[in-house]
Amino acid sequence: MTRVDIYRGWCKKCGICIAFCPKETLVADKDSVPTITDLESCTGCRLCEMRCPDFAIVVTKDEKQKTKSGSAAG
Ligand code: SF4
Ligand code: SF4
Repeated sequence: MTRVDIYRGWCKKCGICIAFCPKETLVADKDSVPTITDLESCTGCRLCEMRCPDFAIVVTKDEKQKTKSGSAAG
């Protein structure tokens, strides 16, 4: 699952992240601040994060790739 954090205080409501989101995961709320509609649709592509001029959006990919190692060579 991917996490998308939007820092409302930093957002200048330019709409770039919404325009660049290929999955329409982001929409503008009543204050024109982006909000998540359906996080399941988010691919974690980070386009929103990369395009935001104000660093107001951060995508965190929760990658569960822990490998269990039972033996340790010394
Ligand atoms: S990471 Fe990609 S798919 Fe997810 S909200 Fe941002 S632009 Fe949209
Ligand atoms: S690109 Fe950044 S500043 Fe512009 S609407 Fe999105 S979060 Fe706000």
